[in-house]
Amino acid sequence: MAKLTFLGAAGSVTGSKYLVEASGKRLLVDCGIFQGLRELTERNCQPLSVDPETFDYLVLTHAHLDHTGWLPVLVKAGFHGPIFANPATIDLTALLLKDSAHLQEEDAEHPQTSQGGRSERPPMYTIEDVDPVLKLMRPMPRLGNFDIDATFRVTAYDAGHILGSSSLELTVTENGTKKLATFSGDIGRYDQPILNDPTTPPGAADVLICESTYGDREHPGGDPAEELADIVNRVSQRGGSIVIPTFAIGRTQTFMYYLRQLEGQNKIPRLPVYVDSPMALSATDLYLEYPQDHNGEFTQIEAGGHGDPLNVHEFHLTRTVQESKAINNVKTPCIIVSASGMVAGGRVLHHLAQRLPDARNAVILAGFQAQGTRGRALQEGAKTLRLFGQDVPVKAEILQMSQLSAHAGRSELLRWLGALTAPPKQTYLTHGEPVAAQALQKAISERFSGKAAVARYLDTIEF
Ligand SMILES: [Zn+2]
Repeated sequence: MAKLTFLGAAGSVTGSKYLVEASGKRLLVDCGIFQGLRELTERNCQPLSVDPETFDYLVLTHAHLDHTGWLPVLVKAGFHGPIFANPATIDLTALLLKDSAHLQEEDAEHPQTSQGGRSERPPMYTIEDVDPVLKLMRPMPRLGNFDIDATFRVTAYDAGHILGSSSLELTVTENGTKKLATFSGDIGRYDQPILNDPTTPPGAADVLICESTYGDREHPGGDPAEELADIVNRVSQRGGSIVIPTFAIGRTQTFMYYLRQLEGQNKIPRLPVYVDSPMALSATDLYLEYPQDHNGEFTQIEAGGHGDPLNVHEFHLTRTVQESKAINNVKTPCIIVSASGMVAGGRVLHHLAQRLPDARNAVILAGFQAQGTRGRALQEGAKTLRLFGQDVPVKAEILQMSQLSAHAGRSELLRWLGALTAPPKQTYLTHGEPVAAQALQKAISERFSGKAAVARYLDTIEF
């Protein structure tokens, strides 16, 4: 029997790591960091229960840090096998890991920047630790079959979540018997701008590992462009600025797309937009480099020749800490996009320290805010936020735009599951907080009369 062990994203949204063992070979699917609650982030500092030196291969579903951000630690701990990912994911992972290393170094260099006076977290890794990871990266096809060896074959499908994001079918051959493990990866949205709809892998799975981030929630309806226009107009008319906590990849492009469209239609003023990332390479350029991921509408807009559809007119990239802090001097309305997405660290902390006490300003939360993060506290209406060792009053308007989420909502997850051609023999729900995973588990038993279990951290199952 092949074995699968949940080394992360079991009972939590972050830390995706799934170990598959068969025919004496070990393959790790994803290698994410844990974020949010301290009991989770402490796992980032603990060794894995299985020695990484014994892993033969690694495959990535997509570039987000909760799927790739622990790679430098894994490599430092002795992993030296190939890391397979499609070219877009390799490029984005390089950008995100460097960004993450820079931000961790900046946080550590300025211990007063974190709660309580001393740095909460020494850097898990620095920029020097990223290159050895990138040297192990090997491209695999964006779609279709790829044989890793006689035991493992990967078949990739577009998951429509971020550029390069994939659902993976893993065919495991052991003693002449083939078994199919399907990994949903993070499932994107249907009918969204820029990217294709998610594709459900067609194979009859012996085991399905399915994400459940929004298993208990729908995204609100309504036109996100109109809502964004309302926010931008309302905030800029009262002389305020907008802070959007997010990494420079994924949601940033969705915001840019809507802002550019709204500017083009004269529905909003042309405000300066600061993308505050140490990596000056525009992630947006990478989005344009991989047309295979673009949906029909976006391809048409690109062909229309009206300039770069993902760049607003007044676009600024900031590289250094000094440039980032200089944004504090911008007193006229502007939009600041800055990491990290859950306000766990990074430069967004000093933007919030600057902008939160002013009621004219607004903060837009668009991504998932994990338990224990400052983003979650803001979402839940915190009156103050602990920043730089001080309780900063939250006077700014806190807005939730989860319709700009890159994650499928509950009915979209069910739509994806409903497109399976055969019920999986076993289904495990991962990448969701317990309430969300349990809600999806219930829905699966009601809708598909199928059985699903909520994956438990460090459990091993056979298939
Ligand atoms: Zn993701």
